[in-house]
Amino acid sequence: MGFFDSLFGKKKEEKKQEVKRVCPICGKEFTGKGLDVHDGTICFECWDLVLDDFESGRMDDDKEFYIAPIKAAVLAKKGELAADKAAKDVKPEVCPICGGKMPKFMTMEVKDGYICDDCFSKFNELEKYGETDKELANITLKELSALITRADKQKAANEKRKEQDACPICGANVSEKSIGSLWGDIKQSVKDEIPKFVLLKDNQKICAACAEKVRLLYPVKYARTYDSEGEYTGAHLDTLNTITLPEFRKALEDVNVKRQQLEKQYGSCEAVISVGSVARDFDKARTNPGKKEYRIRGKILLGKASKGDLIQVNRNDSGFTMRIERLQQITGFEEYSGNNVDSVGEGYYAIVTVAEDTSCIYPGDNLIIV
Ligand SMILES: [Zn+2]
Ligand SMILES: [Zn+2]
Ligand SMILES: [Zn+2]
Repeated sequence: MGFFDSLFGKKKEEKKQEVKRVCPICGKEFTGKGLDVHDGTICFECWDLVLDDFESGRMDDDKEFYIAPIKAAVLAKKGELAADKAAKDVKPEVCPICGGKMPKFMTMEVKDGYICDDCFSKFNELEKYGETDKELANITLKELSALITRADKQKAANEKRKEQDACPICGANVSEKSIGSLWGDIKQSVKDEIPKFVLLKDNQKICAACAEKVRLLYPVKYARTYDSEGEYTGAHLDTLNTITLPEFRKALEDVNVKRQQLEKQYGSCEAVISVGSVARDFDKARTNPGKKEYRIRGKILLGKASKGDLIQVNRNDSGFTMRIERLQQITGFEEYSGNNVDSVGEGYYAIVTVAEDTSCIYPGDNLIIV
């Protein structure tokens, strides 16, 4: 860039900053910086109104970063704000959510109206248990009402569940001591502790021992969900949570049929393992760097798995065979290591190490061991 160019360039820029501009969206004059979009510059007052739409992905930076679509969004937002304000002009006599009495002073405000103290404390509970990430001022009456209805239903179901204190199959004690809290209860009793019972879809509790009997048909699956940064959270999905008590009773019969089928099909079958997860095994990586090993974590559903046994995998009409090099017995899918053993029996969890590539194996698979 030449001397005059840079001189003029600088001058031009300084001058530009002083110029009053008219926002093509609201028509108001503004000075200083505006926001450059593909076909013009808009004022920050307008931009603030639609910023959330872009951040939350409702609008697309590439396709909608033009005056016309932004203007439409600004108008819609202004209309919404006016409607919210109009809705709040008059305080109602009763709570629009529950019909309860409204407090005389200090009424809690939501985005488009007022709520009673009861509904406000329910909102606080919902927030505490992460059931909503909206602030009170941003939630609409309709949204809060739907959340509260769902939570009330859940609470009623929790209460019903607690009344049942015996396993309907064998009579074992499945009573719960802790009352827990309104919404956190299921999370606390099922996810955070090792449950002594499994909860069916209809909130019936089945003792752990009875639940194990049908694992051949309804295994616990392990799944990972990845967020945008590539971080994952692992979760165990118990497929028994998806069936009702009548279906469970049927499963108790069906599982015997399945067992007979398997025994017939794999006459020499030693065991069946339900896969929880698959990963590289680095145990011997240092002493034997050339050899890659993989570990299959899972549960023995049938028979007994022993060192030297062969695992058979059928995937897309191809058959794969892998030999069990090492075995560890663990206390659950969560464990990353356990006792080295020669064999693991039915109903127990195992880490099975093989030397073959395990990319054909998925969590939830039931594998045959011969
Ligand atoms: Zn504007
Ligand atoms: Zn209310
Ligand atoms: Zn039972």
